[in-house]
Amino acid sequence: MAEKTFVIGADLGGTHAAAVVVDREGNIYYQYELPVDLSHCADEVFEKSIFPVIEKVIKNSPGRVSSIGMGLPGRIDSRTGICHFSPNLQWHNVPVGPKLEEKFNIPCHVMNDVTVATLGEQMFGLGKDVDNFILMAIGTGIGGGIVNEGRLVLGAIESAGEIGHMTIVPDGYLCNCGNRGCLEALCSGPNIARRYREALERGEGELAPGLDGIEEVTAGTIQRAAAAGDPLAIKIWEETGRYLGIGIANLITVLNPDRILIGGRVANALDLFLPALLNEVRFRARMVPPDFTEIKHAGLAENAGVMGGAALALSWIEKH
Ligand SMILES: [Zn+2]
Repeated sequence: MAEKTFVIGADLGGTHAAAVVVDREGNIYYQYELPVDLSHCADEVFEKSIFPVIEKVIKNSPGRVSSIGMGLPGRIDSRTGICHFSPNLQWHNVPVGPKLEEKFNIPCHVMNDVTVATLGEQMFGLGKDVDNFILMAIGTGIGGGIVNEGRLVLGAIESAGEIGHMTIVPDGYLCNCGNRGCLEALCSGPNIARRYREALERGEGELAPGLDGIEEVTAGTIQRAAAAGDPLAIKIWEETGRYLGIGIANLITVLNPDRILIGGRVANALDLFLPALLNEVRFRARMVPPDFTEIKHAGLAENAGVMGGAALALSWIEKH
């Protein structure tokens, strides 16, 4: 009988480094995570968080580990394994892949975290049974991954899928990327909170009960306020659905996906913004039949990062 294949899927975020060991079917045998302190330099983040997490998971693997896949935020060249720029991690030109290979002596592969999560959905999640889908991850930023005719779309310099930086409002809010009116500048978690605060300042409503001050407002608290019936919070989620719907209608018009998956922490409020989003999509995406594209919550939820890393590691094995 052939030896069973095990791989490590890892995920590096702004707060935690996490890893799992899985088999080819995606069954998790062990998982572990450690906090990440970003006040440390990249080398220390490796020594104190990334290496110990992966080491522990390798030790607890039921068999030999064939490959490691890791996702991290930023612009990464997957061929060289170099993270050219990560605003979240404050990293410039860090050779992530080579560092991992040197430490563990196992083939290691790194890619942008949302791209990796898209591979995870394709292999283990709601992208399994369709050839054309888009993952939209909405959290502190908005990232995206596109699978077209069964293949991940990376673009010329692996910059494809940056759907958070599509312009939605021509002279809108300044975005972290330097453009104005990006989808991210309107609908990332912190920017949803900002629109709510600004509406309060314009006198459009009262601060929701349970919140002591305007600075306490987050997408999570607006979600709870809307669920409790707060009219301004409900209006902000409807507006969020409308902006996301404009972006999604554009994606549908250009790429004709079977499915759009919405993940990230803000997707927990999907019920609050989906009706407005669907209205907008029906109104604007006229070149495909109405409701042709399924729009739903992503499949892998909190495990999206590590399962994506595992999918990256497995897809490498399949190619070799
Ligand atoms: Zn932008």
